[in-house]
Amino acid sequence: MPGKLYVVATPIGNLEDLTFRAARILGEVDVIACEDTRQTAKLLAHLSLHKPLVAIHEHNERERAAELAARLAAGASIALVSDAGTPLISDPGYRLIQAATETGIPVVPLPGPCAAITALSASGLPTDAFYFGGFLPAKANQRRKYLEALKPLPATLIFYEAPHRILETLEDIRVCYPERRITVARELTKVHEEFLRGTGAEVLAELAARPAMKGEFTLLIAKGGEADAGADERPLQEAIAALETEGVERMEAIKLVARLRGLSKREVYSALIKK
Ligand code: SAM
Repeated sequence: MPGKLYVVATPIGNLEDLTFRAARILGEVDVIACEDTRQTAKLLAHLSLHKPLVAIHEHNERERAAELAARLAAGASIALVSDAGTPLISDPGYRLIQAATETGIPVVPLPGPCAAITALSASGLPTDAFYFGGFLPAKANQRRKYLEALKPLPATLIFYEAPHRILETLEDIRVCYPERRITVARELTKVHEEFLRGTGAEVLAELAARPAMKGEFTLLIAKGGEADAGADERPLQEAIAALETEGVERMEAIKLVARLRGLSKREVYSALIKK
């Protein structure tokens, strides 16, 4: 009988946020697959646990996924964790879960901390519909185009951002979304947790006045009003071609247009092929 693959969320700062269930499962599994063994060793030391650790990260994910899937198939139980938060959410693990689901290995998620949802819940911004965009492109022109392309989306936008890029990104948000309310959530669940709320210009001014950008940041842009969400009535081909001209990859463009029009990727793709 195959073993089970547990997807275990771990704290994003405050160790008290580890669930009872997560602690129990980490103690019960045969192996823990983790992003950085040193990080996970600290968590295990806190729980007084000793477990074999296997590193799985963006550089070795393909091979490790196959190895771990074979161990699961042979009956081992494995917990997947990342350095912090929910695995696979801007973190490694996708190939492992894919390998497990394709081979009929049971995948059991253990819910817990996730910076995006934690930030959204206290942001004060609309929560009825939201779009998680992960990390924004590092290159300024691609970032601006991406932010622009997301404008018609009737949803609060959530992004992760590195401290050394936060001011540049806020400047882009100030220009692209001058009227929208935004929230910057910094150091969530930690001692210096804070929320900065206002327009892009206000939050940028407040952060830019500081001597250094420290800590971890999650950025949120309020869902737009009717004026922002004007329907895009161009033919699908035209909408995709326009994004491609702006440097957005074809698959990304298909995904985005599908999301914006409320269609499946398959529907958009078949419309493109028919032409
Ligand atoms: N898987 C994680 C999760 O579920 O939130 C996210 C991992 S991603 C590599 C790390 C990014 O998440 C950071 O650069 C930051 O943008 C955001 N983040 C993580 N912890 C945070 C915290 N305590 N406060 C604010 N943002 C945080």
